[in-house]
Amino acid sequence: MAMTRDWDRRHCARKGHITYAPTEPELRDRLHVATAVGEAWRCLRCGDFAIGAPHGAGQAADAPYVPRGKALRDLFILRFLAVERLVRGVFIVLVAWAVWKFSNSQTSVQQLFNDDLTLFRPIAQHYGFDLDHSAVVDSIQKTFQYKHSTLLITAVALVAYALIEIVEAFGLWAAKRWAEYLTVVATAAFLPLEIIELTHKVSGFKIGTLALNVLAVLYILLAKRLFGLRGGAKAFEAERHGASLLEVEAAAHQASLREREAQVAEGAAGALANVHRTVPLDRVAPQRGGAVDQPSRIVE
Ligand SMILES: [Zn+2]
Repeated sequence: MAMTRDWDRRHCARKGHITYAPTEPELRDRLHVATAVGEAWRCLRCGDFAIGAPHGAGQAADAPYVPRGKALRDLFILRFLAVERLVRGVFIVLVAWAVWKFSNSQTSVQQLFNDDLTLFRPIAQHYGFDLDHSAVVDSIQKTFQYKHSTLLITAVALVAYALIEIVEAFGLWAAKRWAEYLTVVATAAFLPLEIIELTHKVSGFKIGTLALNVLAVLYILLAKRLFGLRGGAKAFEAERHGASLLEVEAAAHQASLREREAQVAEGAAGALANVHRTVPLDRVAPQRGGAVDQPSRIVE
């Protein structure tokens, strides 16, 4: 608890406090204090009182959602993953571009080959060699054809993969739940490929990427309670709201109201108990007198 509090304070130190004046008077009182140097409002993130006018005002329900504690830490981790995804996406786009360029240069190699072939055709024909029906020339041409399309498909697949990474990046940055699902599903889907890559050639970068992706999948699955894990979306929303300072204060206010009601009820119950206590006494008295069946006595 203390650690998340420090986390919140550090965040406030960098980004400044977020204060809000709710219109509900009872909540307003809890968040507001008058000091010698002016009014101060409780920061919705770190909980400290910040001197100055509130940054926002309105109904408590319209207050901005301020991630704090665990939610703030989760947001930070997901934003780190978002940046990592964006960098990887841009890198893969560059690779795709290189592959596409290479595939085009292959075309020009083929073009060169064809040009040279036409150049040599009269000479070949002069020596009685039919280049148009040569198995060697045919297979060379086919190879170039095949390679070009393979490279194009590779480039397109890389662009598609890069797009997924970039969409993940923007979605994760904006803390969208669909992006968390997309990240978990897409990342898990590519894990077998990463493992196959490792069996070809082991490198520190590949191991690091695999470890990061496995951790990312597990972390998002559990922290964001995807696929109904740990209570699912409902539990996640409850946790998110439960951590909001305004809601904590509103709950505290409700609790104190309930306590007061309970006290009032207890007082009433006490009064009733007193009545009840007097009843047996009254009943006992007539009993002694032998007049048990006289309910009017109870009232008196
Ligand atoms: Zn603060």
